[in-house]
Amino acid sequence: MRRYSAFAIAREAARYHTGWERAWRSPAPKSDYEVIVIGAGGHGLATAYYLGKNHGITNVAILEKGWLGGGNTGRNTTIIRSNYLQDPSAAIYEKARSLYETLSQDLNYNVMFSPRGVLMLAQTQHEIRGYQRTAHANAIQGVKTEWIGPQKVKEICPIMNIHGPRYPVLGGLWQARGGTARHDAVAWGYARACSDMGMDIIQQCEVTGVEQKGGVVTGVQTTKGRIGTKKLAIVVAGHSGVLADMAGFRLPIESVALQALVSEPIKPCMDIVVMANTVHGYMSQSDKGEMVIGGGADGYNNYTQRGSFHHVEETVRALVETFPIISRLKMLRWWGGIVDMTGDRSPILSKTPLGNCFINCGWGTGGFKAIPGSGWGMAELVAKGEPGPLTAEFGLDRFTQGRFIDESVAAGVAH
Ligand SMILES: Cc1cc2nc3c(=O)[nH]c(=O)nc-3n(C[C@H](O)[C@H](O)[C@H](O)COP(=O)(O)OP(=O)(O)OC[C@H]3O[C@@H](n4cnc5c(N)ncnc54)[C@H](O)[C@@H]3O)c2cc1C
Repeated sequence: MRRYSAFAIAREAARYHTGWERAWRSPAPKSDYEVIVIGAGGHGLATAYYLGKNHGITNVAILEKGWLGGGNTGRNTTIIRSNYLQDPSAAIYEKARSLYETLSQDLNYNVMFSPRGVLMLAQTQHEIRGYQRTAHANAIQGVKTEWIGPQKVKEICPIMNIHGPRYPVLGGLWQARGGTARHDAVAWGYARACSDMGMDIIQQCEVTGVEQKGGVVTGVQTTKGRIGTKKLAIVVAGHSGVLADMAGFRLPIESVALQALVSEPIKPCMDIVVMANTVHGYMSQSDKGEMVIGGGADGYNNYTQRGSFHHVEETVRALVETFPIISRLKMLRWWGGIVDMTGDRSPILSKTPLGNCFINCGWGTGGFKAIPGSGWGMAELVAKGEPGPLTAEFGLDRFTQGRFIDESVAAGVAH
């Protein structure tokens, strides 16, 4: 694969861009692989990438029922932060955040990581206590965050009305090196690097069955025929329960739709990311000028990749109080993704009852930020067959042992 560089852009400009190669190959599936990863979202692609890069395993297929990055990876609001409460979470999210810092150089693909700062607003007394506790925990964990008062909030985000009657701003948890990245580019960058290592990304290839013999997986049935494998990694977010069912085990997961929308583009007015968890609204401004707004998750299980009207109404109504500037904006696009929620709002990176089958799921409403760290840890789990330091606490056994990693405040979802 030719490297992308300033020289390559100049060369292609001179010959009318006729020399660019395809970013990844689209091969037909082989009969067998050493590892099959189901799901070409960010987590599946990152798992494959670090399998190759860190463990030298490149005989890998990534099977995707739609198009790569077309699941939650291409539908999220791209917030990256690592200000979680519990030690195992801080470790994996901070690993991910730090990998994001150099991901563009690592992948030779501009993922547009923008560490513009993330602010989680405290709008109730309960949140003040929750975020101050998190700030103390982060200090011990070595994650740089700080509790700031309402005046500092106004200083770093002047368009905010901090004196709203229903939701006054009482302060916030500030992570200066949090931010955003371009979600498609993260998927595309990993895909290009995986393909370059000789891995097969097979799109439009839905897994419809998991073959097993003597307690281990031998292959998968797909819409492109049977494919054999020595190891299987299931990384399908909102469809984890469906795949686990095919493999014959159950997961403590609920699948619900989470929605987001963008406004028409406007001039730059906000250069940080703001999350307002009391009202379930979060907002940043994209490079194109659109206000990117995320809302709450549906209160019932479903598989619909679209928004529901009452949520968008609630989210925008609440945000308008804190950001009066958005009240006249028109909505440009509105969509949903199916997120996989665990009871403790922490992910599952685990062995399964099948000896050579591993699962990565449960990232819920917050897994985009975790992609590099999750891929790093999952690759180690798949390669060695045992969890490493990043994933040891995220096994399925925590639900039978009552060893929960409660992140309901940090996850910013119903709590
Ligand atoms: C509206 C919204 C906003 C969000 N905002 C944020 C945010 O700001 N910050 C953040 O950190 N996180 C956010 N998230 C969460 C984040 O998007 C997800 O946690 C993350 O993208 C999950 O990545 P993934 O690779 O596990 O899943 P996905 O990207 O969903 O990939 C799974 C893939 O598996 C494929 N698949 C499913 N079944 C099969 C099958 N049978 N055979 C083959 N392939 C299959 C799917 O087609 C899909 O492409 C948000 C999510 C949504 C929906």
